[in-house]
Amino acid sequence: MPAIKITALRKSFNRVAVLKDVSIEVQKGEMVALIGSSGSGKSTLMRHLSGLTFANRNSPSTVEVLGRKVQQNGRPAKELRATRARIGNVFQQFNLVNRLSVQTNVLIGALSRIPTYRSLLGWFTDEEKLKALEALESVGLRQHALKRASDLSGGQQQRVAIARALMQEAEIILADEPIASLDPESSRQVMETLQRINREMGITVVVTLHQVEYAQKYCSRAIALKEGEIYFDGSIDGLETSLLTDLYGTRISEGT
Ligand code: ADP
Ligand code: MG
Repeated sequence: MPAIKITALRKSFNRVAVLKDVSIEVQKGEMVALIGSSGSGKSTLMRHLSGLTFANRNSPSTVEVLGRKVQQNGRPAKELRATRARIGNVFQQFNLVNRLSVQTNVLIGALSRIPTYRSLLGWFTDEEKLKALEALESVGLRQHALKRASDLSGGQQQRVAIARALMQEAEIILADEPIASLDPESSRQVMETLQRINREMGITVVVTLHQVEYAQKYCSRAIALKEGEIYFDGSIDGLETSLLTDLYGTRISEGT
């Protein structure tokens, strides 16, 4: 069973086609870079996987994650909620609750799985608190557990978001431009963290990157979008210079 299966995904905004018949399959345990220039449709594609955006109504589009339908024909599937609980999201803008501690931010990952009364009151068991510390250990931040989230650097906050996905017991992590606002050293640490949890825990990772160098360093496969179509899908080594020039034009040497 593939981790992701997208078939004939079509999405338009105001009648402008942003995704044109996109089909993708990602196997469990892969670490895939989704690349392409700004506006090529990467974020829109990612949002379909979490059921934050739906394909065109009555299009033949199907999106499945972890063997469960997320959406079909532009409508949410019955299993959407259950599937979403297994998908960890990491965004460019860290998305932590600044005034809460690092540990509490990680515990938020457990909210979808605990009884409603406890989630409403923010009550966590000792076992859950311990598990949050273990998740922080996995991303190298255990010693920062009691700090306010906003007191951490951008790269550290991004690793807290990854720990939150571990707390959630996510089987797949979707990271949309997780290093776009980070310096090179922080970017390296975030990418290494994603790579480590992919390799050691077998969590499937799909990461959008506009800097190809990071895709080449940390991912084994690349899927490139160009103007809403799959332009390349294959081993990262197949990303030849001519292909990248075509993909990015003169922007290729920017960044890092
Ligand atoms: P990328 O992440 O590759 O930069 P996006 O998926 O964000 O690209 O955007 C692809 C195209 O879709 C862009 O032209 C963008 O302006 C458009 N778009 C994205 N979201 C919306 C929206 N909610 N409403 C209208 N247009 C949108
Ligand atoms: Mg984007």
